[in-house]
Amino acid sequence: MSGSLPVPPPRIARLPRNRAGYPVPWFVAWIDGAPDFRVVRADGIQDALRFRTCWLCGQPLGANAAFVIGPMCAVNRVSPEPPSHRDCADYAARACPFLTTPGMRRRDSRLPDHAAQPDGVMIARNPGVALVWVSRTWRLRPDVGLFDVGQPVETRWYAHGRPATRAEVLASIDSGLPLLRAEAQAAQRPEQALRALDDMHRKALLLVPAGAVD
Ligand SMILES: [Zn+2]
Repeated sequence: MSGSLPVPPPRIARLPRNRAGYPVPWFVAWIDGAPDFRVVRADGIQDALRFRTCWLCGQPLGANAAFVIGPMCAVNRVSPEPPSHRDCADYAARACPFLTTPGMRRRDSRLPDHAAQPDGVMIARNPGVALVWVSRTWRLRPDVGLFDVGQPVETRWYAHGRPATRAEVLASIDSGLPLLRAEAQAAQRPEQALRALDDMHRKALLLVPAGAVD
C-alpha cells in the first residue's frame, strides 16, 4: 500500500510507520504497541494547543496554520482538530485513505473505551473531498469544543489524492447541505439559523476552484 502514497514532506518522512507503511501522525494513539489511527492520543488537543505543535508531525507551527477539513466544515468554518503545517496538511489530504477513498467507511467497531469523542455535532460521513484551509486567525471555541478556522489565506481542494475538480467540490457540498439544514431547523431559532446557513453556504461557494477542468 505504501507504494501508492505521495512523497511525504521531510517532517512527515521522519515519523514512525505502521506495518502497512503509512507514516503515523503525531496525534495518533498507540495502543498495545500499535498505532490506532481512529484514536487521538491522550491530551492530544490540549498538548497541540499548549506547545503550538503541528497536529500531524508534532513539530512547532509557524504563522500559517492549515486545517484538513471536509466540505461541510468549509461551510460552517469549524474543525474538530487543531491545525498543521501547510505541507503536512497537503500530504494528509492526498494520502489519508478516509479522505481519498470515498467508498471507504470509518470503522467504528472495537474502539477502546478511552477513545476521545469529538465534541459538537459531527457528521460521520466520508466526504470524498478534502480541503486544506490555510489561516492565520484560527482559535479554539471553548463553548462548542471546536476550532474556528478563521479567514482563509489559501484553500486547496483534493479528491482521490489529486486536486479536486469544481464538479466534485460542488457535489460534495451539495450532498452534505441537507444535514446542515436539518441541524439549523432543529436550532432554537430555526429561521435565523437557516439564514445564517444560507449566508455561510454562499461564502463557501466563493472558495470553490473556478478554473478546474470538470
Ligand atoms: Zn507538520
